[in-house]
Amino acid sequence: MMPRYKYRCAQCEISKAVFHLISETLSDCDECGGVETMEKLVSTPHIKKDTIIEKQKIGEITKEHIEANREILEQQKQEAKEENRLEIILSASLTLSVIFNIGIFVYARAAIARLLSVSDELGDLQQMVDSFAKHVKAVYELEMFYGDQTLEHLLNHAVSFNEQLGTFEYIYELTEEEADIVDHDEEEEIAEGTQ
Ligand SMILES: [Zn+2]
Repeated sequence: MMPRYKYRCAQCEISKAVFHLISETLSDCDECGGVETMEKLVSTPHIKKDTIIEKQKIGEITKEHIEANREILEQQKQEAKEENRLEIILSASLTLSVIFNIGIFVYARAAIARLLSVSDELGDLQQMVDSFAKHVKAVYELEMFYGDQTLEHLLNHAVSFNEQLGTFEYIYELTEEEADIVDHDEEEEIAEGTQ
């Protein structure tokens, strides 16, 4: 693009703007036909201003781009942080869930094992009670006067029944543990109340 220059004719006093190369000059007037009457007016060629403006614009645009890129970078950093945090939370809750499930499984298996053994022992207890009841009934149904031996046998059976009951401690121990704790708490409350 060629620079723009302003000229003024010394003869007809017309002013005009023309485009030409820096090395060229306008000397003759087209209007009045004057020769060597055109004088170049001192002014900054417009292209210079445009260049400066464009340079400024480029500078601003570059700045804006850098700013925008910085913002995008910051945003990406923030997003990466949040993703990282989310990942930690997810893996932590997954681990907790797995531990919790294992705990439930172990507890349920132990509880089922206890129930099965209790059921087993209750079966034995029923057999014991049945056998004792039959014995008592048999003695009661005797028409004769009860001899010493008959009563001795029944008494022995009653003693062994009592002894065998001791082997079922395991069953009521299951609930006694909790009862003990409750009793202890109650005692403490009473002790606090009297103070
Ligand atoms: Zn002229």
